[in-house]
Amino acid sequence: MRFALAGNPNCGKTTLFNELTGSTAHVGNWPGVTVDRKEGVYKKLKENVTIIDLPGIYSLSPYTPEEIVTRNYIVDENPDLIINIIDATNLERNLYLTTQILETDCPVIIALNMMDSLEKSGSKINVHALENSLGVPVVPISALRRDGIEKLMERAYETSKNKRKGMSVLEDSNMKTQFEEIVEILKDKNISHPVFHAVKLIEGDELDEKELKGNLEKIKEIKNTITLKEELEGDFEAAIADIRYKYITNNCQNAIKRNKSVHELTKSDKIDKVLTNRWLGIPIFLLCMFIVFHLTFSEDLLFLNKFGILDEGIPCPAVWLQGILDNVFGAFSDFVSDFLVNVGASDWISGLVVDGVIAGVSSVLSFLPQILSLFLFLSIMEDSGYMARAAFLMDRLLRKFGLSGKAFMPLLMCFGCMVPGAMATRTIEDAKERRITIMLAPFFSCGAKLAIWSMFARALFPEHADFVVFGIYLLGIVTAIIAAIILKKFVFKGETSAFIMELPAYHMPQAKNILLLLWEKLKGFLSRAATIIAGATVIIWFLSNFSFSLEMVDANSADSILGVIGTFLTLLFKPLGFASGDMGWKAVVATITGLIAKEMVVSTMGVLYNPDVEGDAADDDAAGDALAVTLASVFSPAAALAFMAFNLLSVPCMAAVAAAHGELRSVKKTLTTIAFWILTAWIVSFLVFHIATLCGLGA
Ligand code: GDP
Ligand code: MG
Repeated sequence: MRFALAGNPNCGKTTLFNELTGSTAHVGNWPGVTVDRKEGVYKKLKENVTIIDLPGIYSLSPYTPEEIVTRNYIVDENPDLIINIIDATNLERNLYLTTQILETDCPVIIALNMMDSLEKSGSKINVHALENSLGVPVVPISALRRDGIEKLMERAYETSKNKRKGMSVLEDSNMKTQFEEIVEILKDKNISHPVFHAVKLIEGDELDEKELKGNLEKIKEIKNTITLKEELEGDFEAAIADIRYKYITNNCQNAIKRNKSVHELTKSDKIDKVLTNRWLGIPIFLLCMFIVFHLTFSEDLLFLNKFGILDEGIPCPAVWLQGILDNVFGAFSDFVSDFLVNVGASDWISGLVVDGVIAGVSSVLSFLPQILSLFLFLSIMEDSGYMARAAFLMDRLLRKFGLSGKAFMPLLMCFGCMVPGAMATRTIEDAKERRITIMLAPFFSCGAKLAIWSMFARALFPEHADFVVFGIYLLGIVTAIIAAIILKKFVFKGETSAFIMELPAYHMPQAKNILLLLWEKLKGFLSRAATIIAGATVIIWFLSNFSFSLEMVDANSADSILGVIGTFLTLLFKPLGFASGDMGWKAVVATITGLIAKEMVVSTMGVLYNPDVEGDAADDDAAGDALAVTLASVFSPAAALAFMAFNLLSVPCMAAVAAAHGELRSVKKTLTTIAFWILTAWIVSFLVFHIATLCGLGA
């Protein structure tokens, strides 16, 4: 027997899985994708049951690898039962997936998890009412406290013995007739899970359309007789999402009763009194963020230098580690250089290896400590439940500007990486709001951009690194808010939808969760450094060392291929300050390569501004320090700020463009979005340069 665990990310699937399977669990890979496949055995029933932990998802659409894996498993491999885990403290959002799982013909049982948190908050859920409106068994549990798990499994076992027919919320909507006609056609063709596939066909799901080639014409005809509200612009997916949420609001929402009469405040409530206070909330959030940046970037951690106690401040761990890494890379580069001279390698080989690959890759890798440090603090904030409060605070703020806080979670993810952030916008039902959110996504500085901020903060603002990096993040947020107001007012008019979010209880962050998260970041970063960045630095090195007639020119001279192209493009960037002077083209080239991947900005600068390593002065200096010295001599503070602003706001990387396109699903919308990013970047960078110059940072 096989039972599959399905549910949203963070609903407690893994906790339950570990509880059920104990030491029998093993992890593999789903074929073709890098998504974990976890399996184990539950032994306390009459027969042994294999438990499969499916990847966490918000929907069964075929967009992310996680969604495809989960969907294919449920639809093609017909497990004996699906255990749908629901976070009871977040009922509405979790039930969105449930309405889709119920469309399959698989037997389903619902595990209502996190009952401990729910009860702590004084709320109650009427389990019977929920069972009635969903038509499947619902068992309250707490995976963390190990409550109700055996009862869940016993009922699961009984439930798996009974056949079940899929049911859909569309039976309750204006599409009822057409939906039922399509179901009949699929039944006639003996297609399994007819209800599920009928809904997917109306949604315009490409996976399903591919499989049903022969019958598509007739189904499309039926679908065309459905009339949608005008503002949906023929977006069936959005229309169906709307039907699902309406159904949940009308039928399930009343199953949850918030006990307002509880006088005694829980610990979480007490903390929240302060942290989400109307006046203190946002200042506290900003203070927390500043402390995080200070702990990650400061060269004077305890302000000992600032207050004149020590001559030199004590750096924070990340800065200290970075210094060590720089020395290691410097020594490695010298070693390889000497080695190549000894074996008599020609000049261009040592140029390629030392000034190209090693300079480029090590300039990116030396920022690893800061990236890991920032993510460590952010994931602690996330895992403790504080980030959800930040979303709540932002919602209150954004509402004043006519925006919904629903956009906040996806945008928050963009601080890590825009790719999952863009995908998470699918939780926003309103198509226009989804589009605005994607357009704002790059303004939230991602992990890859962090290396740029570190590099410049260190080179030009060593004493105020924490402030400068914090300021860049703020600049992004402020730009996003202003852009959102403009877009909302003039381009995409409409109502803002309600933001329903129940705040999880605070809990101690779990070391294991956090380490895992960091490891994933580290892995992704290293593999990118080893592949894309190493490969691209070779190309950059070639283009910057050869002329159009393919003759080798003086390293990084303006006669090189890149020099010629960059010099031409400086025309566009001149007003932004950083493209002036005979080195100006290098900054332009770095910006352009940054459109492919943001790590490229740093690695390109590492190659192009590579200081003359033969000079005696450079010998003692580690590569990173030498680059900092060069940058400080080439950029004025104002130009550096403008450069950072442009890189913060323009096209983040090709993967992000692909992800945005995956959500927008229209070449025209994607191109407009790209143009919007570049235009915003140009305008803000222009303003930053001129304001900074006025403030005396121009030289
Ligand atoms: P997954 O993403 O669905 O695999 O979720 P996890 O199992 O990783 O759990 C996410 C977080 O919720 C972790 O911090 C768990 O400790 C916590 N969690 C899981 N189950 C419960 C529960 O029943 N009650 C409470 N209070 N927390 C839980
Ligand atoms: Mg998990």
